[in-house]
Amino acid sequence: MPAEALSINASLSKKSDAASYEPRLTHLPILILNVHEQCNCRCLMCDIWQREGGKELDLADFARHRQSIEAMGVKHIVLTGGEPLMHRNFETLCRTLKECGVQITLLTTGLLLAKRAKIVADFVDEVIISLDGPQEVHDQVRRVKGAFRLIGDGVSAVRQHTPALPIRGRSTVQKANHHLLRKTVEGAKSLGLSSISFLAADVTSQAFNRELVWPGERQNQISLMPSEIRTLEEEIEWLVAENADDFQSKYIVESPAKLQRIARRFREQLGEMPPVAPRCNAPWVSAVMEIDGSVRPCFFHPSIGSTKLQTLGEVINSDEAVKFRASLDVRENDICQRCVCSLNYKDPMAEANRGEVEAQPRLYQAGTE
Ligand code: SF4
Ligand code: SF4
Repeated sequence: MPAEALSINASLSKKSDAASYEPRLTHLPILILNVHEQCNCRCLMCDIWQREGGKELDLADFARHRQSIEAMGVKHIVLTGGEPLMHRNFETLCRTLKECGVQITLLTTGLLLAKRAKIVADFVDEVIISLDGPQEVHDQVRRVKGAFRLIGDGVSAVRQHTPALPIRGRSTVQKANHHLLRKTVEGAKSLGLSSISFLAADVTSQAFNRELVWPGERQNQISLMPSEIRTLEEEIEWLVAENADDFQSKYIVESPAKLQRIARRFREQLGEMPPVAPRCNAPWVSAVMEIDGSVRPCFFHPSIGSTKLQTLGEVINSDEAVKFRASLDVRENDICQRCVCSLNYKDPMAEANRGEVEAQPRLYQAGTE
């Protein structure tokens, strides 16, 4: 699921400035947990499904980090993979996390949602399903026949248990669907999804199990040519004109201006425009924990340490991690400038990491703002 990645939309902020955070973290509101390395889709834009071995999060080992999760005030745990619902002890995992008092967001293909509906309804607070277009295109991109229909079955099954559970759609814009945004919104509604959001496909990073940056030929299968970018821009204009109510109600999560930035990202990939990094505070408010215990500051930057011999809290504030955060300038960083999926999280306790919370002033040094 990482290609669709983070979406804790309720907490987006316009004000956060990553550069103003302290490198040593006292709070970590969001932990992204990779719980199963394999996936039940075979998407063209991702190499995760090619992983061999089918490793999954070892729950006994994970229990070591419970104290870190509680001590660092983790509020949201985002389950990702691969496909998290493939974890053989998914219910036990959810129970353990709930005992830590966190909210659970599940990033999923939706293919196993009907089978796991009761567990999801009982434990998960938000489901985000990747949707790549209307039925035919979605199934083509996922390379799974009947994938779209299975999502519909899963949404219905979960809603039978918990009618109000937010089940959102997340669509990665790429060559196969750049002209179909309106049809994607229609598809989301037909599936009963609570909302739909869009992001540009990532073709330039080494995230998502790529051993090397993709060669141009592979990138071209996903990214857009100039004429396709114009088509996308027109499609966005049509979407804005025809779906005004959906923007108003936030059924379409992004504003029109933010959707236009997706088109701009593709222009940047072609070198037509200079890359502009998004506003992002991911490394200061979140971490990604992989199945092998390595910890990343976000999906795209390299590991800052391993929990094999340390607790999560120790890794988060290890010398390497602190050094990384102290030296990261999101606006200037090459990886950030190409990032398609940022996080801008506003949270009172995370603000403590930049010295703005008066209630606990002794715990923090002043930020640089
Ligand atoms: S194969 Fe598709 S569904 Fe699976 S992790 Fe990759 S992008 Fe997500
Ligand atoms: S690559 Fe940079 S902009 Fe993207 S999530 Fe990571 S820190 Fe944020």
